[in-house]
Amino acid sequence: MSTFSLLNPATEEVFASVPSLSLEETDAAIERAAVAFESWRQVSPGDRARLLRRFSEVVDSHLEELAMIEVENAGHTIGNARWEAGNVRDVLAYYAGAPERHMGKQIPVAGGINVTFHEPLGVVGIIVPWNFPMPIAGWGFVPALAAGNTVVLKPAEITPLTAMRLGELALEAGIPEGVFQVLTGKGSVVGWRFVTHEKVAKVCFTGSTEVGSKIMAGCADQIKRVTLELGGKSANVIFSDADLELAAARAPGGVFDNAGQDCCARSRILVQRDSYDRFLELLEPAVKGFVCGDPRDESTEMGPLVSAAQHEVVRSFVPDGAPIAFQGTCPEGPGFWFPPTVLAPVGRKDRAVTDEIFGPVVVVLPFEDEADAIAIANDTPYGLSGSIWTRDLGRALRVSRAIDSGNLSVNSHSSVRYWTPFGGFKQSGIGRELGPDALDAFSDVKNVFISTEE
Ligand code: NAD
Repeated sequence: MSTFSLLNPATEEVFASVPSLSLEETDAAIERAAVAFESWRQVSPGDRARLLRRFSEVVDSHLEELAMIEVENAGHTIGNARWEAGNVRDVLAYYAGAPERHMGKQIPVAGGINVTFHEPLGVVGIIVPWNFPMPIAGWGFVPALAAGNTVVLKPAEITPLTAMRLGELALEAGIPEGVFQVLTGKGSVVGWRFVTHEKVAKVCFTGSTEVGSKIMAGCADQIKRVTLELGGKSANVIFSDADLELAAARAPGGVFDNAGQDCCARSRILVQRDSYDRFLELLEPAVKGFVCGDPRDESTEMGPLVSAAQHEVVRSFVPDGAPIAFQGTCPEGPGFWFPPTVLAPVGRKDRAVTDEIFGPVVVVLPFEDEADAIAIANDTPYGLSGSIWTRDLGRALRVSRAIDSGNLSVNSHSSVRYWTPFGGFKQSGIGRELGPDALDAFSDVKNVFISTEE
């Protein structure tokens, strides 16, 4: 059996290896999921709810273990990793309430009664990237299970361990065999099989826009349902009437959290021209004080990048002679470390301004007025997230409506909240996850008319 070696990104030491499944093994798992679907869909909504609640409780009792696995496998800070494991628990608890409330409609029509049902799709394939292995897995598999589907989930090659553990915990909680399976292996083998296998009814993909576009094209062959959560190049727009001190203090967290490996990273800071110099003065100590170091240390705010390959990508955006305004610090020696880095001045068409970096590198650009800020913010094929800092409520709403992006936050850098819908405009994706309607993305509406005439 072929295997993958896993490296601790903070030490570069190999600490585990996991199986890389073959096409035949993937097919066998999909077949098991298809068989399990026939009984899982019959489990009453109340019992499905009870099982998900129990799964949530089991995750809660393994929170620290899951968090420690992520620290070692992905280099996440212990604080973040605890939040991520807690997010899986909370998402399970939230959607445990959903099977009993996934109601259809009774629609007034002539000559009879018309009702709608939400029917589960069947086997759902979920493909997860390496940047937030636990939450992104949960945002897919939890509502999919709640809606009555069975799930095959493929974690990223380099960060499979927490997903594998969640698969075991599901069984411990009483979720029947075959209902939730975690399949480790290559994207081109296991992930792509979700696209081509006729018994997978939907693919829910989170990852790069490049791969997402291939997945969408592949799914078109079978008119397979697809949700895509892809890349981003989000703007953090700061107007002169904002609380500049607060905006500067919060800006590093908005982009450097998870070492910038965040699809929602506010990686373009746009500042109104008359406040530009003052903002940079305020930003410098905040960046230099952003603590990058041992992810196991409770006071660490940022760990290493996930891999040597990602380090190489990030480094390419800061070549010799790059316009570094200032930089924070990071450990020397082994580990894929990269310091928090601010690039300014930069041109609006520079590569660091237009491309997703997925690392702790941010650009700062001046803008003239509201129209200019909106034009720069929208000058990207992406449209995932963003922030607006202003004390003017009218402006906050005008600019929020004008920025082509799925998730905006005013005077804050709100992270993804499971109570509210999440997803991208433009090339950041298609479909929405989370929020009160998440089960709709994992079911099809069936309309039934019952005649009351003879
Ligand atoms: P990636 O696209 O390389 O891989 C994502 C997943 O797809 C992995 O599990 C990989 O094995 C699998 N995969 C790769 N090729 C495949 C193929 N041909 N068929 C099927 N599956 C395949 O992305 P990545 O490098 O792991 O993650 C970083 C990217 O993810 C960034 O662009 C980031 O913005 C994006 N992302 C988006 C969101 C969001 O919610 N919008 C969240 C996190 C990350």
